[in-house]
Amino acid sequence: MATLLEGRKIASEIKERIKNEVSGLKQKTGKTPVLVALSVGQNAASGVYIKSQGRVAEELGIAYRLVSLKEGISEKDLIAEIRKLNSDLLVHGIIIQTPLPKEINLHEAVAAVSAGKDAEGMHPENLGKLLLGCSKIAPCTALGCMELLRAYQIKLYGKEVVIVGHSEIVGKPLSLMLVKEFATTTVCHIATSEAHKLQDHVSRAEILIVAVGKANLIKGDWIKEGAVVIDVGINRVGDKLVGDVEFEAAEKRAAFITPVPGGVGPLTVTMLMQNTLELFKQSLK
Ligand code: NAD
Repeated sequence: MATLLEGRKIASEIKERIKNEVSGLKQKTGKTPVLVALSVGQNAASGVYIKSQGRVAEELGIAYRLVSLKEGISEKDLIAEIRKLNSDLLVHGIIIQTPLPKEINLHEAVAAVSAGKDAEGMHPENLGKLLLGCSKIAPCTALGCMELLRAYQIKLYGKEVVIVGHSEIVGKPLSLMLVKEFATTTVCHIATSEAHKLQDHVSRAEILIVAVGKANLIKGDWIKEGAVVIDVGINRVGDKLVGDVEFEAAEKRAAFITPVPGGVGPLTVTMLMQNTLELFKQSLK
């Protein structure tokens, strides 16, 4: 039976460290990090994230402010709001809640956030630094996966790593982080499945990271014996949340596996706070 990669426990340890650092900096400077969430219109999914971000920020001594903009706002007006926050010296981090209404281009909005306030690590300048291997701010979920591997001392050098899913927030940035650690990294996506090659790639993975959003896409008997499995996917099936990997069958073959929920999820919001703390520290310099 696989050892569980307990994201919740690792996230608690990291949060404790962030909380102590925030409180130490407050004593030294009299200042507190401020994270602003920008949200457009009403969306149930982002409502859940906003609640959880606010709760974790409060726990860590980070001030969290929500700026709610009306549904029909134009891209130009949204960017004007972002620029106001960029020039507000009392704001250290900005996150744009997604999904945005389809009339607004997310890339334009994210690029309008100052790179020095980009709490999500999605600004082109920060992604460029990630490519160059010198980033301090990076996409939260990808960072969360790396923290999980680090916490369980999973060696990456020369390892066969397969990522399934090539999104901008998970698969692509994660591939850069893993290559930096000298892992041999393959990125699979929809076309891999359409070419009937997904099982071949998955079954040779010593470390498998899946971020697709399709329940049970990865069959348990595809998993290599002794593999490390990180399941980023979150899918609602009936009244249960499940990942993208058939958990019961996979845990019989894997050496390590994340539970869903309680795996990567708690680390994502923790990394948002870590990025905010880093941006705050940069603003003090
Ligand atoms: P996305 O929805 O932007 O992209 C999905 C990816 O999966 C694409 O690369 C696509 O090509 C690939 N894909 C789709 N069908 C496939 C198939 N049959 N075979 C192989 N690849 C296939 O991805 P995302 O935004 O990274 O989200 C992926 C999942 O991760 C979702 O379930 C999401 O809820 C979850 N997620 C979890 C966290 C967390 O904190 N735990 C954070 C972000 C996303």
